[in-house]
Amino acid sequence: MLVTMREMLADAREKKYAVPAFDVSNYEMIKAVIDVCEEERSPALFMCLKPDLQNKGIKFLTAMIKEAEKHYTVPVCLHLDHATELDDIKEAIDNGFTSVMYDGSVLPFEQNAARTLEVTKIAHAKGVTVEAELGHVGDAIAGTGEDILTKDSTAKVDNPEDTLTDPEEVRRFIEITDVDALAVAIGTSHGVYRSTPALRIDRLEKIESISKSPLVLHGGSGTPDDQVKEAIRHGITKINIYSEVLYGLNSGLRDKLNGIQNLSMWPVYVYEDAITRMREVIRNKIRTFGSAGRV
Ligand SMILES: [Zn+2]
Repeated sequence: MLVTMREMLADAREKKYAVPAFDVSNYEMIKAVIDVCEEERSPALFMCLKPDLQNKGIKFLTAMIKEAEKHYTVPVCLHLDHATELDDIKEAIDNGFTSVMYDGSVLPFEQNAARTLEVTKIAHAKGVTVEAELGHVGDAIAGTGEDILTKDSTAKVDNPEDTLTDPEEVRRFIEITDVDALAVAIGTSHGVYRSTPALRIDRLEKIESISKSPLVLHGGSGTPDDQVKEAIRHGITKINIYSEVLYGLNSGLRDKLNGIQNLSMWPVYVYEDAITRMREVIRNKIRTFGSAGRV
């Protein structure tokens, strides 16, 4: 069943768990996510990023995800991650995405709100739900692939506090934009951490008490489990994961390829360890976030 993010997150908010949202770039990642979600009875939230959608990539990725939805019983959501261009959002909606993220987080408040409103008008008219971002989670704007892999954001701003979501702005932003989910900056960043993050649960608590929309945490990879669980207790309903699954994929491929002489080996064998490692990460996130056994 293909569902919108609004339905998925409403249940998560009510029952205080978070849905792990996985960015997927190829068949092996899609298959690993849907197989483990089915085994764990967890909703499956797929996300795609622009570099993988270019050059007709959108046709292939969406076809695979929509096909997965037919052969499994858990609900599936197809979400566009970190779009900054209206054209990309329209293309995603035309291709069957049930949810989109518009990321205007680097813009001043008024501009971010105005552009987000433009997106919600277009998306809601087609029954598609919208996530926006207020405050700015470091790095990886519109994901070029490489910048996702280094968490460098705090080095670039004078005061990291300035990039955190301001609870005072949340109510007005949601009133203006009518967004279905709100990504907040509370101390995580995208990619692989150089030092352990310290989430600002105090700030999250304030935001959750004000926000009509369910809250989203980006940069979930590498954030310690105890902090993640605390964030879920205080209102986080969706956590984005990419880097940790990529690490499983790439380390599995590297170790497998290092061990073989025959480089004409079939991909189905080359990917064996990569798939095992991705599945482990996916299962661990589902159980840690409490989304197992929810469907
Ligand atoms: Zn993100």
